[in-house]
Amino acid sequence: MSILKVINLKKSYGKVQALKGINFEVESGEVYGFIGPNGAGKTTTIRTILGILKADEGKSEVFGLDAWNDAVDIHKRIAYVPGEVNLWPNLTGGEVIDFYMNLRGENNQERKSELIEMFDLDPTKKCRSYSKGNRQKVALISALASDAELFILDEPTSGLDPLMEKTFQQCIFDLKKAGKSVFLSSHILSEVEKLCDRLSIIREGEIIESGSLDDLRHLTRTNIKLKTKKAIEGLSELDGVYDLHEEDLFYQFQIDTDEFSKIIKYVSKFEVLKLESTPPTLEELFLIHYEGKSK
Ligand code: ATP
Repeated sequence: MSILKVINLKKSYGKVQALKGINFEVESGEVYGFIGPNGAGKTTTIRTILGILKADEGKSEVFGLDAWNDAVDIHKRIAYVPGEVNLWPNLTGGEVIDFYMNLRGENNQERKSELIEMFDLDPTKKCRSYSKGNRQKVALISALASDAELFILDEPTSGLDPLMEKTFQQCIFDLKKAGKSVFLSSHILSEVEKLCDRLSIIREGEIIESGSLDDLRHLTRTNIKLKTKKAIEGLSELDGVYDLHEEDLFYQFQIDTDEFSKIIKYVSKFEVLKLESTPPTLEELFLIHYEGKSK
């Protein structure tokens, strides 16, 4: 069942066409990544999903409801963490978290304390003295302490240090285990790689690719390091082999991931002593798209 459906969404700010007709669907219980560089249209998409912005064309549906017309009902069932967190300067972090929990009619103090400890937040400090990372922690704890069905997180870890990023990842795994759905926007690809079931890549207001990581990996190449006993004949002529370097029967090259088994079968005839294969990172995949090479 799809929990979030974005249909042909278009939005312009004056002459800037921020969204050029985007489509994707998030299934119930999945963690969905929304990846793109700064200015790609991630926040604009999220704002239309939240019913804060009205789309020029197309629409978003959350829980089968219309994002613009049914925003109030939708908001009761979602938790949202914005990219830029602004808090009331005179309240403490703990008070802000309580405020958000009360707004939702929730009061799970045990969960709140657990999260405060996990994120190592001092909740007694006034928000005006918090760093960007600490403000982000307050927003994250408020969201994660809730019993929402769908969590919409806009660049949630951009101000967190690596240790806290780990904590965040654990929390996302826990949400998934609990059957919740998560929509996670990011330009940090390694973060998404570990967490997401599926993802869409957005660039200049257009979705350029959607699918599971495995679906997207076939678009790029696997790096191979190989040592053989005998010289490999005809390797450079094989289909799907690129960028070949050889020194003393030590070979380094890239292959089309689709051709993997065919190429491995071929080289095995030359007595493989050592083989190392590195799958492409999302970073590489993304760079290919970002530079527009594969379009
Ligand atoms: P970032 O990670 O930098 O927030 P993003 O992917 O979230 O980027 P958006 O903030 O959605 O991207 O911006 C998409 C495009 O729309 C950009 O070109 C941006 O400059 C433009 N834009 C966003 N908000 C406004 C606005 N209020 N007025 C005019 N242009 C805007």
